[in-house]
Amino acid sequence: MATALAPETKAMHTLPGDAVRQIQWRFADRFDLQMLVQSSRGVARGTVARMVAAGERNTHEWTPAKSEMMEAFDRAGITGAFMEPEEGGFIAGPKNLALSLAAFELAWVDGGAATASLASFLALAPIHECGTPEQIRHYKGLAAPPQPGEDRKPWRGAFALTEPLPYVGVDTGVLSGKLRIAEWNEGEEPLLQVDKRGRFITNIAFANFVTAAVNTDDERIKGSCVVILEEGDEGIFDRGTATKKLVHQLSSTGDPVFNLKVPASRIVGGYTVQDGVIVPNFSHGEVIEAVFRRTRVTVGLMTAAKLLSAVEPVIRYQRGRFRGATGAKPGSMRYDFGIQQREDALHRLIDVWATGEAAASLGFAAARLFDELDPLEKQKTAILKARGVIGRRSEMRALRETEQKAIELLAMKADDPRRTVLEADPLVAFVLKDSEADVLCPATKLWNTGNGANMMREAVSLMGGYGITEDCPGFLANKWMDSQLEATYEGPEAVQRRQLTITMTSEVFLAQFRTWIRDMRRIAGAQPETGACTLASAMELWLWTLTHLQKATDPAGSLLYHGQRQGVTFALADALCWLLASRSQILDVLELEQHGPDDPVVAEGLTGTLQFFSDLCHTQAARASGEASRICAELVFGYNRHPAWDQEGCRHCFTTHELEELEETMPGISAFAVDVIADDGSHPAKAGPCAGCAGASEFQRLQNKLTTCLSGARLAKDRAAETVSTVMIPEALDYPA
Ligand SMILES: Cc1cc2nc3c(=O)[nH]c(=O)nc-3n(C[C@H](O)[C@H](O)[C@H](O)COP(=O)(O)OP(=O)(O)OC[C@H]3O[C@@H](n4cnc5c(N)ncnc54)[C@H](O)[C@@H]3O)c2cc1C
Repeated sequence: MATALAPETKAMHTLPGDAVRQIQWRFADRFDLQMLVQSSRGVARGTVARMVAAGERNTHEWTPAKSEMMEAFDRAGITGAFMEPEEGGFIAGPKNLALSLAAFELAWVDGGAATASLASFLALAPIHECGTPEQIRHYKGLAAPPQPGEDRKPWRGAFALTEPLPYVGVDTGVLSGKLRIAEWNEGEEPLLQVDKRGRFITNIAFANFVTAAVNTDDERIKGSCVVILEEGDEGIFDRGTATKKLVHQLSSTGDPVFNLKVPASRIVGGYTVQDGVIVPNFSHGEVIEAVFRRTRVTVGLMTAAKLLSAVEPVIRYQRGRFRGATGAKPGSMRYDFGIQQREDALHRLIDVWATGEAAASLGFAAARLFDELDPLEKQKTAILKARGVIGRRSEMRALRETEQKAIELLAMKADDPRRTVLEADPLVAFVLKDSEADVLCPATKLWNTGNGANMMREAVSLMGGYGITEDCPGFLANKWMDSQLEATYEGPEAVQRRQLTITMTSEVFLAQFRTWIRDMRRIAGAQPETGACTLASAMELWLWTLTHLQKATDPAGSLLYHGQRQGVTFALADALCWLLASRSQILDVLELEQHGPDDPVVAEGLTGTLQFFSDLCHTQAARASGEASRICAELVFGYNRHPAWDQEGCRHCFTTHELEELEETMPGISAFAVDVIADDGSHPAKAGPCAGCAGASEFQRLQNKLTTCLSGARLAKDRAAETVSTVMIPEALDYPA
């Protein structure tokens, strides 16, 4: 077992409950969201858990039980969570946090159930983000759950981007779906012929409409677009065969074939006719960018839920492991603590828990950010439109000046009189949030799911053989495998890394990042137990490395930080994600510290809860900093060619003769010389003289500092482990195994 807690330390007695989470994830004042969490949880731990336990995941086919699950979502208000109150929903305003919370609850039990609930939103999202007012009204109205007394089934949707090989996958530009003009009579709306084959399309077994990405195959249509297809349209609406998935079997997936005639009004966002050519207002690329930048956050949170859901079943298993054995009498250590007598078992569980906390904090921070960004984005579009600036490229050009203002604001002193003006500028606010969102979204998707999948393996391993059986409480093996799908769909890791390599180098983001480092240092002053100091040092190291790599070249003279050089750029993106997740985790603990005392439930035992969460933060900050340090060191030094025993490589070597002379004035120097060349030219038997750190001595200074900043991190882990060995858990899991 871990070292005993210091006498003054208060321990956390129970697992963190809803009141704690509401404060940390900032919905303590949102009764509507709290209701949604409760109703989603009811379906997840009731209907969904029973289906999984009954083996409903064992078939690829769409079954009556799976269909009933969708109806349970309708009744629980999950389907309506996407709609505005006037559209049949109950949550007003941006819904990124709301949808994330609902998906989190469902994924706590089963990822496929969460995906099934989200897929219709994904189908609606192109319409919601880019659709014409008529399209939005029409399709959201059809997809809204029936109101009391209304006898109708809500429409379900599917989103069809991915195509059979060799077309759309990671590369969304290689589109084979085609759009032609079928009929275009003078003065009438054109009729379009849509030819699209999909691959791995979710919800397809029952979708009533599909938003499909297609490209022009007609000189009278310009470029690509997203088009809405309906099951009653003239032509072929073939749902295809079910995909033989090993994961997420409670959702429907298949490879459909569509060959349909639809009116041109189905082009998402509408079109104009210019010189006899139909010009869609949004290309398929613009639509999917607007959609995925929001929906990917929710996917990242699904994996976070899995990690946190593993904690309770693992504790229960570890504690009860030896009960009933002859030697394990009630009251004995073996009986009470089971495997939790062993430090490694506790430490590994702490790693899983800390990762889950960091992933949830990062994901919910991103979801909240999009809730703040949504109205600002609309305001930005309206302001620029009033100035005659329309279209993405023109907007980007027009916002360059604002970007400089945003950077200026970030560097400004607190009492600078210009601050008030810049802070009140909605365009500045938009630019700041937008650049942060451009990083937090791919970071959430990449780190939560990719690293989360690795950590789910750890969680499964903690249950021994039981972990890889169907009987495992918490369905951990399913969740391990499911998390790999979360890392894949809506763009696998390469897509997120590619996006990060661009967005994390934006001047605005880097200016924000510098302020975040300062914030972490300040936090470290007041709450050093969070590991903020370690994190700040790692963030400095990462920033130094990026700046260095942007200028450095390899021995052939090629630039290291370059779009084609994924070995550099992708690795640096990975390093950043570790740091961002750890930062969000620390900020959530501060939030709990600040607002915990206001809630009587949280206030009782707050000291212990804060101690435990700080220890998790510290543990995670140390791990994240270690990862970042390892990656950065490899990149800074790994592209230097190792010195050889040639003229250039031996420039700083001593000869035996030189050393003998120096020894006369500096006795003992020979003991420090490692690469000595003998008079006959012979040298130590190794590849070349040891490499130096020319141009990177500052890196070594920062890395040294970071190493010493790790002080206390393992003590924090010991303390957290002690808490995990004593924390109370309910008698039984609240959903079936
Ligand atoms: C169960 C399930 C449900 C799905 N639901 C939907 C849906 O509803 N709608 C929809 O449109 N799609 C859906 N998809 C498709 C999913 O989004 C794609 O599978 C995913 O985007 C990856 O595409 P791909 O499988 O063609 O992989 P590929 O493009 O073949 O990529 C394979 C691997 O190669 C690497 N790679 C590829 N390109 C690059 C590059 N440029 N740089 C570096 N590495 C690269 C990456 O590591 C990647 O992981 C679903 C998939 C599954 C499995």
